[in-house]
Parts: sequence; C-alpha cells; structure tokens
Amino acid sequence: MPDLCAPAPTVYDPEKREIIQLIAVPAFSDNYLWMVCKGNHAVVIDPGLAAPVQTILHQHNLTLDAILLTHHHHDHVGGVLELQHATQAIIYGPARETLPACDHRMSEGDSLSLPNVDLTLHVVDVPGHTAGHIAYHGALGSHKQPILFCGDTLFAAGCGRLFEGTPEQMLDSLNKLATLHSDTLVCCAHEYTLSNLEWALTVEPDNKALQNRWTAASQLRENAQPTLPSHLQLELDTNPFLRTSQVSVSTAAERYARQALNQPVSVFATLREWKNNF
Ligand SMILES: [Zn+2]
Ligand SMILES: [Zn+2]
Repeated sequence: MPDLCAPAPTVYDPEKREIIQLIAVPAFSDNYLWMVCKGNHAVVIDPGLAAPVQTILHQHNLTLDAILLTHHHHDHVGGVLELQHATQAIIYGPARETLPACDHRMSEGDSLSLPNVDLTLHVVDVPGHTAGHIAYHGALGSHKQPILFCGDTLFAAGCGRLFEGTPEQMLDSLNKLATLHSDTLVCCAHEYTLSNLEWALTVEPDNKALQNRWTAASQLRENAQPTLPSHLQLELDTNPFLRTSQVSVSTAAERYARQALNQPVSVFATLREWKNNF
C-alpha cells in the first residue's frame, strides 16, 4: 500500500509475511484519524470526517471492518454515520456517552478482537476530558506490538482539557495509561506536540530527553510529517502530566502556584491550569 497520506510505522508480521500499516490520517486542522490496515481490511479510530477515510478505502480497495470511538466530541464521531452507511462497519464506542450510532457499548474490562487486521484490544475507562471517555490498548500483529488509542486523554507531552471531569479523575486516568507496557505505541488524536513541548520545556528546562524531543519533533514538523505515534517511555520521560511525582515538576508547579503543593493531584491541577493559560 504505497503513497498513503502520511508516513506510517509499518509492522511486519514475519509469521504471516504480511504488512500491517498504522496510518495517521490528517483531518480538520490538527486531528489524526488512526487507521490499521492489513491485506484488504481496515479499521478506523475516531473518524471525525468520513471523506479522508473513504479515500484510503477506495485507493487501496479496503473493507472497513470496524469503527472504534473514544468519546462523543464531533471531531471524533462526525464521520460515523456516513461510514456506517457506506461500509456496514461494526461500531464500538463508550458505554456512557451519546453517540451518532454504536453497536457495542464498551467499558473497562471489555475486550475486542479484530482478527482481519491482527488487533486485540482491551478497554479502560479514562474519564476527565469527557465523563465517559474510554481508551483501547492491546497488541498488534503476531509479535504483539503494544499499542494504545487514547483519543483526547493523553497527548504527546500533554493531556486533554478537563471539559467534563475533575483533576482527580484525569490523574487517575493518566495513571492507568502510565502503567501500560513502556514499549506501547501511543496513538493520540491531535497534532499538539510542538506547542505542548514548548510549554513542557518551561516546566522542565533542564530535562535532556525533553530538549532532544523538541529537536526531533521540530524536524518532523518542518518536513510536514506527524510526530505521532508517540511511545509510552518517551511520555514517561518528557510529559509533565505523567511526571507529577518528579521533584523538578512539582517544584516548578509550586513556583507557578506560589504555594506548597503536597499532593500529586494538586500538582496535576496546577499544571493543567498553567497549560491552559500558556
Ligand atoms: Zn475531545
Ligand atoms: Zn479531539
């Protein structure tokens, strides 16, 4: 499948001698609609628009087996009805959100298997950005590459805004994601990386991993390439929202708040407010 719209990591499955592609399809100003494609089959995560997904399906003669949704925001579900009518794909989505259509309502502890694209996923509840937000994590291909589709919960060097949840909920949600395998590919739904890194560098200016990440991400964006997927270990090393217990981060948050912050959740809430005002 050459000439896809964005350079994508390719997972070669040596046992089956098949290529699985993970594609970040750009939409709107900064969304990525993630697609996993293998042979003549595809699945899409959070199709906020149908057209760019349809283009890839047609160009490569792919059948859309499933649509996975993380939360109810329009830029994540806007293309669902059009894709459903065109493809009869099965729709999986959060149990507790209002969606345009959904065949399987998913919540923490549920799993799904998409054998045509060699993807097995488990659901975790990650409230905070929205009240019923879910994330899907699991294994891709026969060598079980850990992978995470986290919608608007975790971003490269950032996290989602708290539209419907509390700092406690969001910190709990991020802590769940932080305990996944450190080799997990992190498929975030927006290209916010450079602005997040700019802020993260004001929180931790001496973090070498963060400085290196800024250089690498700037180069990718200069070449109009996505900075995603990220990698969980990279987030653990550079994302202030996953580093609330690091002294460098809590000290910076205390300086911003002009008071002592004794709990990780108060450090987290301060970081979120700082980023909102950055
Ligand atoms: Zn959202
Ligand atoms: Zn979004």
